[in-house]
Amino acid sequence: MEPLVFQGRLRDRDHADAPVDASITFEEDALVAEAAGGHRARLPWRGLRLRRSEAGALECSSGGVTISSTEPGFPRALEAAGGNEVADALARLDGESVANPWVGRLGCTFALGVAVFVAVRLPACFTAVTEGVAEEVPYSVDEAIGEFASDQVPVEGGTVSDPVLREAVQVMVDRLAPHRSLADAEFRFRIVDNDLVNAFALPGGHIVVFTGLLETAETPEEVAGVLAHEIAHVTQRHGIRQVVKAAGLTAVIGITLGDLSGLESLVVEVLQNGYGRDAESEADAEGVRMMVAARLDPRGLARFFERLDAEQEVEIPEWLSTHPDSLARASRVQALAAEAGAVDWEPLAIDWDAVQAALEAR
Ligand SMILES: [Zn+2]
Repeated sequence: MEPLVFQGRLRDRDHADAPVDASITFEEDALVAEAAGGHRARLPWRGLRLRRSEAGALECSSGGVTISSTEPGFPRALEAAGGNEVADALARLDGESVANPWVGRLGCTFALGVAVFVAVRLPACFTAVTEGVAEEVPYSVDEAIGEFASDQVPVEGGTVSDPVLREAVQVMVDRLAPHRSLADAEFRFRIVDNDLVNAFALPGGHIVVFTGLLETAETPEEVAGVLAHEIAHVTQRHGIRQVVKAAGLTAVIGITLGDLSGLESLVVEVLQNGYGRDAESEADAEGVRMMVAARLDPRGLARFFERLDAEQEVEIPEWLSTHPDSLARASRVQALAAEAGAVDWEPLAIDWDAVQAALEAR
C-alpha cells in the first residue's frame, strides 16, 4: 500500500519562529512531518495534543512542535494511525464525551465526580491528596503545562538555529540526560538570542538557553552545570509542585480533568515567580549528582557562580537571585563535588572557540 501523505505545515520553535510547508506521514508510533528544507519532526502518539485552528486546520502538538493540515482526509487518517488515544482526543474536539484517561490514577480525588465534589463538603482525604498530588499526577500533566506555558511565558529574542551552537548544547544535553532521575522525562531546548546570562526550564522538559549564558561561560562545563540544574527542576517536578501548592484544590480538579483553563494565568505566574529557595538548593544538589554521574566536573558550575559574584555588572539570573549569596552556593557545589571523591572527569567534546566564533558571527 502506498504510504499516506498529507500536505500541511510544521512549526518547530526550537529551529525557527515561523511555520514552514511540510509533508506529513504516519509511522507506527509517531506522526512525522518533513519540511522542504529537510528538517524532520516526529511527534509520538502518546501525549499528542490536538486543536482546531480558526482557519480550520487540525493542529497536532507535542513538546513545542506543531504539525497541522487543512486536508479533509487528515483527521480520519490520523485517527486510523494514532489508535485509541488519538481517537479520544479527536472525539473530545468534536464535543463527544469520552472516558477521562486519568480517572483511576489519582487516589481518592477521582472517586468523586466533579459534580459530586461541588455538591458535598470537602472530604478529609483531599488535604492529604493535595500534599502528595505531585507524585500522583501523571508526568504528562507536567508536559501539558509546559507546552501551554512555552506559548505564554514571554521570551524576548529570536530563535537561534546556528548548527554550531545547537550542536554544542545538544552534546551537553546528551551527556546529562542518561543520568536523569525520572525516566519519563525528555528534554528539548531552544537557544534564544538575548544577552541574559540565564537559562530556564519549563515543566515537561522544554529548556530555553539564552546566548548571553553561552557568551559569558568560559568553558562548556559551566553551561552544562546550568543545564544540569535546569534538568533537575524538570525531573524533581518543581513546576507542578508549585502549581499544586499555589492553586490547591482548584489545581487538583483542573489537572485531574486534563483541562488547564482557569489555571492558565496561575501557571504563568507561578513559573515566572520561580520555584523557591528549597527547590533551588535541591536543583543544585541534583544537578551536581547528574554531572558527577556523567563525569562532568561540577567545579565548572562553582566557578561560574564565583564569576557571577565577581562581575556584578553581569545581570544575575532570576534563579540565582532567589539565593542570597552565589559564593555560598559556589562553595556548596565545591563541597558536593569533593564528596564525589576521585572521578575520572571527561571534558565535553565541544570546540568552545568555535562556539564563541559562531556567537560573534551572528
Ligand atoms: Zn533553578
